Amino acid sequence: RRNPVTDKKALLREIFGFTHFRPGQEAIIDALLARRDTLAVMPTGAGKSLCFQIPALLFDGLSLVISPLISLMKDQVSALRQAGVEAAYLNSALTPSQMETVVDRARKGTYKILYVAPERLLTSGFLSLVRSCPPPFVAVDEAHCVSQWGQDFRPGYLDIAPFIEGLSGRPVLGAFTATATPQVRDDVTALLCLRNPLVTTTGFDRPNLTFEVRSPANKEAELKGFLAERRGKSGIVYCLTRKTVEEVCESLRAAGHEAVRYHGGLDQEERRENQERFQKDEATVMVATNAFGMGIDKSNVAFVVHYNMPKNIESYYQEAGRAGRDGSRAECVLFYGGRDVVTNQFLIEKGEEASGDDEASRLFRETERRRLRQMTLYCRSRDCLRARILRYFGEESPDRCDNCSNCLQTFREVDVTVEAQKI
Ligand code: ADP
Ligand code: MG
Repeated sequence: RRNPVTDKKALLREIFGFTHFRPGQEAIIDALLARRDTLAVMPTGAGKSLCFQIPALLFDGLSLVISPLISLMKDQVSALRQAGVEAAYLNSALTPSQMETVVDRARKGTYKILYVAPERLLTSGFLSLVRSCPPPFVAVDEAHCVSQWGQDFRPGYLDIAPFIEGLSGRPVLGAFTATATPQVRDDVTALLCLRNPLVTTTGFDRPNLTFEVRSPANKEAELKGFLAERRGKSGIVYCLTRKTVEEVCESLRAAGHEAVRYHGGLDQEERRENQERFQKDEATVMVATNAFGMGIDKSNVAFVVHYNMPKNIESYYQEAGRAGRDGSRAECVLFYGGRDVVTNQFLIEKGEEASGDDEASRLFRETERRRLRQMTLYCRSRDCLRARILRYFGEESPDRCDNCSNCLQTFREVDVTVEAQKI
């Protein structure tokens, strides 16, 4: 039998091939191994998977991972198998006979980790499996799917709590998500029936990014000036509407920039081609709506300019975070204008997501308005921008980063005061 304290490091090395844990990972693994329910909030790419895979390997018996997407399960199971771990999944991609094979093997103790779609949990076949092999540990990946506040609500996630309650022994529960709003966090704790969970929020800081808010009188001129000082560097300019994308892209091309455009109104062929030209550095500037981003992984993006204020801090940070993936210094600049607030208000009231008159739509709009207010406060605040972002996500932060426009501004003001006093 393995020794959990010494072996998590060995597993990290042998199975995953890494020498060090990233911030937060070890604390989460330790809590779970000490049988403490845990809610781990870490941004996408921070490394949540191994925080449940390592405990699953160290607990006796078959641990479960509840996951919403067939593609996620496939990727993780094949990566584990390649590393020599016995893992499998149960979801609607399997035929009934394949499903039976997996259940049989699970019953015989072939696997350490079984991935399962939430909709399988309360089926009779699965219930009979867990009766003969009660799981010591259940991990819920993408746990925000249980909350109706988020955009990824998945009714099947509501089956998780009754499933856990029906088990003969209470397993340790771990919930994992990148969504950090307090409402979603409360929902996850309540709806998954976590018991006095350890809540950890880590890994949101991106020290190589600098943050800046500008309130230019003329955004077009401001952007041209900004780009003129950064010729040849790769960057993204996000706009709120398709129309703005068209206008900005046009004006940049007229000024001699290799700019391409991207939004949902273009045909697929043009979108693919523009993305490729940007990816290959043939086009240096990508002008886009938020339709651009899912699944792109360009490492040398030197700046992300928001030509308009986005609708909330989650969107802002995700989009700005596409800068500096290679770890080198990169700039995130937001052009704030009062009209952006009005446009976002309009999109909330008229948006297709929840325009109805029912209670759910009203609540949704109320939440969106609240998030918009936080975004607006970010733009108008004089406090450290990085601290604002990190605290919004629930992560502790020093009061100053000395690396955002507000910290650098007070720096200058202090300087000037000293000069003035000398005079
Ligand atoms: P998340 O689920 O949080 O989005 P993943 O678990 O998919 O993130 O991990 C993202 C990437 O980080 C993966 O390529 C993973 O192998 C890598 N990774 C995770 N932990 C570490 C670590 N301690 N050291 C180096 N790379 C890591
Ligand atoms: Mg993940």
